[in-house]
Amino acid sequence: MQHLEQLARELEGDLFFDHKMRVLYATDASAYRELPMAVAIPRSIWDLKKLIVFAKDHKTSLIPRTAGTSLAGQVVGNGIVVDVSTHFNQILSLDAAAKKVRVQPGVVRDELNLFLKPHALFFGPETSTANRAMIGGMVGNNSCGSNSVVYRSTREHLLSVKALLSDGSEVEFTDLDIDAFHTKCELSGLEGEIYRHIRSTLSDYNTQEEIRKEFPRPSVERRNTGYAVDVLLETAPFTVGGPTFNFCKLIAGSEGTLAFITEIELNVVDLPPKEVGLLCVHFNSIDESLRANLIAMKHHPSASELIDHYILECTKDNIEQSKNRFFVQGDPGAILVIEFCRATREEIITLASTVETEMRAAGLGYHFPLLFGDDSKKIWTLRKAGLGLLSNLPGDEKAVPVIEDTAVDVQDLPAYIRDFNLILEKFIRSSSTENMEMEDCVVSSSAKW
Ligand SMILES: Cc1cc2nc3c(=O)[nH]c(=O)nc-3n(C[C@H](O)[C@H](O)[C@H](O)COP(=O)(O)OP(=O)(O)OC[C@H]3O[C@@H](n4cnc5c(N)ncnc54)[C@H](O)[C@@H]3O)c2cc1C
Repeated sequence: MQHLEQLARELEGDLFFDHKMRVLYATDASAYRELPMAVAIPRSIWDLKKLIVFAKDHKTSLIPRTAGTSLAGQVVGNGIVVDVSTHFNQILSLDAAAKKVRVQPGVVRDELNLFLKPHALFFGPETSTANRAMIGGMVGNNSCGSNSVVYRSTREHLLSVKALLSDGSEVEFTDLDIDAFHTKCELSGLEGEIYRHIRSTLSDYNTQEEIRKEFPRPSVERRNTGYAVDVLLETAPFTVGGPTFNFCKLIAGSEGTLAFITEIELNVVDLPPKEVGLLCVHFNSIDESLRANLIAMKHHPSASELIDHYILECTKDNIEQSKNRFFVQGDPGAILVIEFCRATREEIITLASTVETEMRAAGLGYHFPLLFGDDSKKIWTLRKAGLGLLSNLPGDEKAVPVIEDTAVDVQDLPAYIRDFNLILEKFIRSSSTENMEMEDCVVSSSAKW
């Protein structure tokens, strides 16, 4: 306790170690919970350096945190939770011509896009939590959302980061050509050590073979399977003709475990075409919707999201969401929400009609409403509310997160979900819980594509 009191006196910001604050920061949006030793609200880089020294001296960890909306315990731990959402929330600079923006980690994703809008630019990757999730957390989780078929994930937009390493030294990770990479390897101190380590690791033939063999296929773009060493392996120092080396590829998705980020430079893109239409295809089963999705993907949608029967059930009795079910006809087993962004509404109407014809020819889908404007906003609101509603079901029965955010090649998805449901069925049969129904276990729409 004394050492925490001493640390609190030394910081420009705040340090809390009372029970109430520790409980408040004991969880994120997941089921995991662990009381941290303390909660820090740093005001400056100087504070962060103090915290790093303290953590080293007292053999504890720092858990960087922005909005704390992670779903898998990323900001849960028994060390010091360091919340940078209060004092590290500035947009530092914009180079509109070069389409680059520099921000602190605590900038909210949607607020960044409000700032960029007058410049006809925006930051593409999104999450269902985009109105509160912050860029530091998006980098930490390599976030992406329903539009990832077009804008991919945060990693692909991360140009450089300024960060503090575990010895408190300040570094900047950015694009390095082969010469610049080898120059970095000559540096003394932790930074040089890190570059030398990655050079020797990724130059090893056996390691290369293992990474190429064991990592998911590159066609599975939306994934976060440990550190992205496979992406680094493809860069020029290790693969002839590859892109330039950039440690940011590894920082994205590293969940706060490699460095404490203080500044983030992102690439931003032109605003998408104004007209947006949602084709909300109704199916009798999830399997049908997954097969129809392969037809949808051929027509370059900006998003294709599933709302399954179970989520739809949850919205029936919800005062807020029941209004947004206006487009639902009958009792669908699944609805595929296919978003098209094009220059004109006519283009979208023609496209939707082609998709409908192809799906009907394949015997897939029974109702094909096409929605625009405020109506389409309501559909996304319904879709985004799904996961929250699922976790707030009234009564004792709760949806249990068993497998989160699995990434599967869309071509394999119908077979994958079929096999997955067979596994669930097997467990239900052997389960001692007599009254459990299969419906309770059907994969929910939180499964990501
Ligand atoms: C209902 C719901 C829906 C969701 N939908 C999606 C979705 O569609 N797509 C998606 O990708 N995610 C989704 N998420 C998960 C989460 O909202 C996102 O990943 C979001 O981007 C996390 O942002 P955050 O600010 O809350 O980060 P936090 O949870 O605070 O942190 C995320 C990670 O980043 C690290 N981090 C934060 N700041 C720093 C820093 N300065 N330096 C180093 N590391 C740092 C943290 O340590 C942690 O590991 C969803 C969550 C919920 C609750």
